[in-house]
Amino acid sequence: MTDWPLTLMAVHAHPDDEATGTGGVLARYAAEGIRTVLVTCTDGGCGDGPGGVKPGEPGHDRVAVAAMRRQELKASCDVLKVSHLEMLDYADSGMMGWPDNDAPGSFWQTPVEEAAARLAELIRRYQPDVVVTYDENGFYGHPDHIQANRITMAALAMTAMTPKVYWTTAPRSMMQRFGEVMREFGADWEEPDPAGAAEMPEIGLPDEEITTWVDTTEFGGQKFDALAAHASQGENIFFLKMGKEKFTELMGVETFVRVQDDTGAAVPENDLFAGLR
Ligand SMILES: [Zn+2]
Repeated sequence: MTDWPLTLMAVHAHPDDEATGTGGVLARYAAEGIRTVLVTCTDGGCGDGPGGVKPGEPGHDRVAVAAMRRQELKASCDVLKVSHLEMLDYADSGMMGWPDNDAPGSFWQTPVEEAAARLAELIRRYQPDVVVTYDENGFYGHPDHIQANRITMAALAMTAMTPKVYWTTAPRSMMQRFGEVMREFGADWEEPDPAGAAEMPEIGLPDEEITTWVDTTEFGGQKFDALAAHASQGENIFFLKMGKEKFTELMGVETFVRVQDDTGAAVPENDLFAGLR
């Protein structure tokens, strides 16, 4: 494992999160000769089935969905040149409030220490210099994303060997632009009900609270192609409708909050490995 000067590990909840959340940094750092390790925690079995069959609808077979999504994940990793894919294979817990939340074997039901111990083993094996995962709200409140944050932070505490740790985020300025493009491209996009929106935790962060802005526009095509590998999932089709150029304009800079740092690199920074090379 010493042949690699530096290693990036991204911990994600479902097949396709690696593309939307960190496709740019995975592609960019692979191109720079950095080893990239993707840990995907669940099997994505609560995703859309072939032909767009939604979970809970007749004909939705979560075993078949998981098998399809595993193939899609491998294709996405090929596009992004991910060095190592590690799947923890917990059962997808579905959206908050779904009965799948409580199913035995679901990621959400798995004790944090148990899943964290498995992740800690991977951290010891790969010795990542940088680990990236979601914030404590899982960016938008999905139980599997929240659980990914919890097991990652617990595994990092168990191993105490990772110099830099980040949570993915989005700047509020970008969320605004995102809304505009949604309305432009998403024919069936409905304005969120203001009453419901008020109860939702705010997504993203004010621009000045973001510590790390990584320009990945050069890799926008790869990020788009990685997402295209997950075209079976309804929410990705919206992005794909934008086309490469618009997608890269909107999603070309990936942003993070640095939550752990041993390097003393000044913030804001434009490189996850600032202070390490
Ligand atoms: Zn997800």
